[in-house]
Amino acid sequence: MNRQRIVAGNWKMNKTFDEGRDLALSIVKRIGPIETLVILCPPFIHLNYLASVTKGIANVRLGAQNCHFENSGAFTGEVSALMLQSIGVEYVIVGHSERRAYFAETNELLAKKVDAILSHGMHPIFCCGEKLDIREAGTHLEFVSQQINDSLFHLSKKQFSKVVLAYEPIWAIGTGKTASPLQAQEMHAYIRSIIAAHFGDDLAFLTTILYGGSCKPSNSKELFSQPDVDGGLIGGASLVAEDFVSIVNSF
Ligand code: PEP
Repeated sequence: MNRQRIVAGNWKMNKTFDEGRDLALSIVKRIGPIETLVILCPPFIHLNYLASVTKGIANVRLGAQNCHFENSGAFTGEVSALMLQSIGVEYVIVGHSERRAYFAETNELLAKKVDAILSHGMHPIFCCGEKLDIREAGTHLEFVSQQINDSLFHLSKKQFSKVVLAYEPIWAIGTGKTASPLQAQEMHAYIRSIIAAHFGDDLAFLTTILYGGSCKPSNSKELFSQPDVDGGLIGGASLVAEDFVSIVNSF
């Protein structure tokens, strides 16, 4: 059994309702019957409509960009994992560096979100990655290890088997500066090794680890050809159907 290859599009805070509908329809129209799983992660306002667009398409799934860990209550402006699950969302991005930086999300808070997502039968896409100063100091492996340890290593093996990881070096997100295939491979292999040490070789082998950070049609083939890179979490290039589908097709 091989691990699942995934290309997920993180639209961030982009696209009006009409623009989002057109983008999703344009992506879905272009995607052939491939084995790669394609996940669309639009802003919340698009999710309900896109659930009807992606329903019944074998290799396309719907993802959210965030959730609250409580099911309901006085949390103005928030959307719960339970609510997402109720409209057909199957994946939720957790711990994106922008949420860590702008919304002060800590490893401990992310552990609660991961638990909530799993408890409603969905898959967390757990983001980790270091800032430039950490890479330059040479402590990036330890830094990422801590993020994973604090937010994911309380899970059981069964729970962890539902998690997708995304390594996203912050210095490469939206900067046009991509990690080299070797830099990505080094970190992905390291992440797989710490998963193996904690959960065993079999589960580590089956864990999907995505790369994110200025991934585009011109570099996706080389990045995805690395043995431990199982696909990508795509920001900017997921907003243009041709580019996104070209990345999807680069395996
Ligand atoms: C992201 O924000 O998850 C991302 C990878 O962005 P970009 O592709 O634009 O660097």
